[in-house]
Amino acid sequence: MKVLKFGGTSVGTAASLRNVKDIIEGLDDRAVVIVSALGGLTDKLIATGKKAAVGDQSYTEDMAAIRERHHNIIRDVVPEQKQPEVFSLIDSLLDDLARIYDGVSLLADLPTKTLDVIVSFGERISSIIVSRMIDGAQHFDSLQYVKTEKWFSKNIADTELTNRLIRETFAENFKVAIAGGFISTDRDTGEITNLGRGGSDYTAALIAAALDADVLEIWTDVNGFMTADPRIIPEAFVVDHMTFIESMELCSFGAKVIYPPTIYPVFHKNIPIRILNTFQPDAPGTWITDSPRKDDIPIKGISAVRNTSLVEIAGEFADNVPEINSRTFNALAKHGISVFLVRQPDENRSLFAFAVTMPELDNTLKAIKDEFAPELKSGKISEIRSTTDLATLAVVGESIRKMPRITGRLFNTLQRDGVEVLASSSGGSQTTISFVIKESDVTQALRLAHASIFNDAN
Ligand code: ADP
Ligand code: ASP
Ligand code: MG
Repeated sequence: MKVLKFGGTSVGTAASLRNVKDIIEGLDDRAVVIVSALGGLTDKLIATGKKAAVGDQSYTEDMAAIRERHHNIIRDVVPEQKQPEVFSLIDSLLDDLARIYDGVSLLADLPTKTLDVIVSFGERISSIIVSRMIDGAQHFDSLQYVKTEKWFSKNIADTELTNRLIRETFAENFKVAIAGGFISTDRDTGEITNLGRGGSDYTAALIAAALDADVLEIWTDVNGFMTADPRIIPEAFVVDHMTFIESMELCSFGAKVIYPPTIYPVFHKNIPIRILNTFQPDAPGTWITDSPRKDDIPIKGISAVRNTSLVEIAGEFADNVPEINSRTFNALAKHGISVFLVRQPDENRSLFAFAVTMPELDNTLKAIKDEFAPELKSGKISEIRSTTDLATLAVVGESIRKMPRITGRLFNTLQRDGVEVLASSSGGSQTTISFVIKESDVTQALRLAHASIFNDAN
């Protein structure tokens, strides 16, 4: 059995939906198909909610446009005899959505919980449309079996419960099951939640893992996982194969091809991932599996995360490497903050540094100052300072560990062309080298690094 996931761009227009229909109807095997909301719709749902909350009455026109867009799609792709049923189902959902927007407008307030309900309509609607477009397909409601729990202010998947519910739900006989990605409900309150932006990939992975699928296919709008974001680096090319670890590193450092948490469940079950193009279904795409292949290229790609801030802890205490590491990580973990780059002190500098995302900076500084209050008081730590508007550039490949000179070479390439490197580090997995740079230098840094790695033989 296969699990296929079609992203927003694949289900955005009647023309792309026809490709989706051909791909699904051409399958020999049983399959579960996960779909995103129509391309761009989630952003639109959020923007409309924000308008309503600030008293901008044009939210009603946006709502009308949302309805119209879905109506046009239904008219174009759903067989005529099924249209009355689909119109009635979808209109009833859209009526609910319109009432929610009216409520937001009246109260002039948009709490997160309400926003979560608003964005859920995208996948609830698209999955019904796609299920009625495919002959013999059966619709499943992801709100019933994808469960989240609260973790600090975030909703995270309760994987154990979700796993069990998926097995129970999909135990019945089906040829093609269609369900919405991204959407979920809280395991304790039943309230509608979601798995985070881009989370449809994760829904598909949870289902693939729970049902022991043979493969997880991520259908999108590019020919595979490429050496860099093709919108920034036109010379980027498709990588035939990479490992789970490599894809995980690239995606957690900003490659938008797969939502990062997606990889864990399938990695754990050793279920291969394929990245394929809905608009060029015959292209071979990218395989992601557990171990490197003989003909793999040594470096699989580069990516960048913006919104980086660097926190530096200066003073003699920073030389106490085991203690400063463990206390920093523990203090941050208690607040649900993850650190993605660490620079250890060296013989030249008593300075310990790590990167976090900008939205997490305030909480990070508070947690660190609390943790190291005694050392700050005694002077063993002279200063805790932070810099914002930075980015992290990552270079990923399992062979990096066999290329001792690459960090220095890239460092020189970047510095020579005016990109200041504020920190650099090899990832814990030894698969990634990362550089903290100014956010304004990201495009230039990606170009330089891509040219240096992929134009020269390495
Ligand atoms: P979907 O709607 O299918 O989920 P996304 O927009 O989330 O699609 O992800 C696909 C997009 O990711 C591509 O259109 C491409 O612009 C972008 N992207 C960023 N980095 C890469 C990369 N390294 N390889 C391929 N695509 C990338
Ligand atoms: N529709 C959601 C989003 O735009 C989820 C997804 O597409 O994966 O973030
Ligand atoms: Mg996506």
